[in-house]
Amino acid sequence: MEKSKPDRRDFIRLSGLALGGLSLAPVAAAAGLPKGQAIDKKLTIVCLGAHPGDPEFGCGGTMARYSDAGHKVIFLYITRGEASDPKKTYAEMAAARTKEAENACNILNTTPAFFGQVDGNTVLDKEQNAKIIAQLTSLSPDIVFTQWPVDGHPDHQVTGMLGLTAWIRSNRHFHLYFYEVNTGVETMAFVPTDYVDITAYRDKKKAAMFSHQTQDPVNTYNDYFKPLEEFRGLEAGVKAAEAFIYFKPGDENGKITGL
Ligand SMILES: [Zn+2]
Repeated sequence: MEKSKPDRRDFIRLSGLALGGLSLAPVAAAAGLPKGQAIDKKLTIVCLGAHPGDPEFGCGGTMARYSDAGHKVIFLYITRGEASDPKKTYAEMAAARTKEAENACNILNTTPAFFGQVDGNTVLDKEQNAKIIAQLTSLSPDIVFTQWPVDGHPDHQVTGMLGLTAWIRSNRHFHLYFYEVNTGVETMAFVPTDYVDITAYRDKKKAAMFSHQTQDPVNTYNDYFKPLEEFRGLEAGVKAAEAFIYFKPGDENGKITGL
């Protein structure tokens, strides 16, 4: 590579995918600050997940970084994973997986909350849309993370669409990011717009993932999430990263650097 040309890291930084501080560029830009720098305002972040474990596996490193930076992070689980073991009753599984979620949130310094739908039977209708809008309005988030709805799991589809619908109905009042889980098997057609360096948070994220003992965390981590965070890291020029799709507010559409 010629010295006079910016290297790959420079390009990433110039593109707004900064490697220092929180790298979710639009948040910093919205606050009138340079991209990729921590900001003074205490943010409220809500991360929607269909099942206990989805927020932790999909973006636990990023959420740990937010909480470490002093921001308030709430994991809003749409279900309690009731249907995940046919040998157990829904009540037994809900209790076990709620406990696992609480343990994971303790590790990441996030707050668990439960939306009240049922695993394997989630619903996207007028009533549920009104409920998610009411809940998010009461939490008043600056940023919402939710699952990318192009996904093989119907509960993930519903979770993504609940977040998207609330964002549209709130007149795009908060920033909206989508995250991925088990890409290739569940998440599909995921083309990231933003990356967050989670290299320093891999151990913490792994501990949170391994709180989900009912979910075969060793194989899930080794087969999917370890390779994925390293692959996203390669794309971002760091050891490990999480990737997101950001939906631009309307007033950012049609803008490109230098024009
Ligand atoms: Zn899930």
